[in-house]
Amino acid sequence: MLMDQSNQFLHIKEYLTGNAINFIGSQVIIYLIYHVSYERIKKQQLYYEQLQHSERLKTTGQLAAAVAHEIRNPLTVVKGFLRLYSEKDGPVNKDIRGTFTLMIDELNTAEEVISQFLTIAKPDKDKAIEIVNIHNVLQSVTDLLKSYGLLRDNKIDLQVDEDCYICANNIEYKQLMINIIKNALEASKIGDSVIVKAKRKKQFLEINVIDYGNGMSEEEIKSLGTPFYSLKSNGTGLGLMICYHIIEKYNGCIDFQSSKGQGTTVTIYFPSKNCELIQIN
Ligand code: ADP
Ligand code: MG
Repeated sequence: MLMDQSNQFLHIKEYLTGNAINFIGSQVIIYLIYHVSYERIKKQQLYYEQLQHSERLKTTGQLAAAVAHEIRNPLTVVKGFLRLYSEKDGPVNKDIRGTFTLMIDELNTAEEVISQFLTIAKPDKDKAIEIVNIHNVLQSVTDLLKSYGLLRDNKIDLQVDEDCYICANNIEYKQLMINIIKNALEASKIGDSVIVKAKRKKQFLEINVIDYGNGMSEEEIKSLGTPFYSLKSNGTGLGLMICYHIIEKYNGCIDFQSSKGQGTTVTIYFPSKNCELIQIN
């Protein structure tokens, strides 16, 4: 159109530089609009994913409360009778008694799964919010898992800043760190170390658990936190679900950076000690 009417609109022809600047300017504006909308869409996508995740956790929690109570009681009764019959002077002969121990072990495993589930279902008012001394808790978790790591000659290297505090429940925070560090140890190759760091930033606290083990693909990372998702032969797939629950409860967030065969870095952020900021329903 412009070419056809160039006789009437001479200035368009004459100001080539101006036109070029106009063109570039409009391209820059279009790019900026695209960039801003893209960032917004990405943020919304992330928000939607988090929403889905928390919905999933809520449903699991309710399901856990209902199922766990129903299953725990009959299990306790069966275990009690098995214990009674497996006693030396009980009515059952020695050969069969051996299988009873096996049955009791299996029941213990089932009970462990139920207890893990119940951790989520337990009412929040049972869990007091305290000032958690990160250094002390990480030290005690490391001591606890030291012998577990020694089974495959793995060490835990602790690098924690002094004066790191958050507002949470001590037991829950400990449970969170045990799950994450245990996963890192289980993923590590024989003889490798797991590094646990905690750094104090302005508004928040950053905790890293680094291993140089199996690593995970993008798809595997997306499945983390899903109940019963486990790639281990004896895994329950409940550990990370509980971790997500605890982190969400105390307004923290978690991030997994991993590459297959190279290792994994788990980063957890918590708001620095400011108990008024944390409101638990
Ligand atoms: P479990 O440990 O019982 O399998 P989790 O919920 O703790 O259950 O972990 C789920 C899965 O996530 C694990 O089976 C494992 O495949 C993967 N995973 C978690 N942490 C790591 C890690 N540091 N390195 C590699 N894989 C991991
Ligand atoms: Mg685990």
